[in-house]
Amino acid sequence: MLFSMRKEKMINIFTVDLEEWFHANYKSLIIDENSTCSNRVVENTMVLLELLDSYRAQATFFVLGYVAQRFPKLIKTISDMGHEIASHGYSHELIYKQNRKKVF
Ligand SMILES: [Zn+2]
Repeated sequence: MLFSMRKEKMINIFTVDLEEWFHANYKSLIIDENSTCSNRVVENTMVLLELLDSYRAQATFFVLGYVAQRFPKLIKTISDMGHEIASHGYSHELIYKQNRKKVF
């Protein structure tokens, strides 16, 4: 039988790219790492964490090294709330714009 008639509970998977607004890969957006761009990731993530908590939902957070280095308490909070932490690279640089030495 191709289709099962069993009623199985649907499993949803929710993932988050944890990065700053200025990490978006827009061609016109050139950001110097030492710039004074405002950080929004902590405040926005706390809103998301409260929402996930209200639904007792768990997520995998793919974290940029840039964010983890600057906001280690945020990463600990995410982990302490039971979410999975995964890597999203360091600075969101597109792979095809990196050379072999930088990738490895
Ligand atoms: Zn991303």
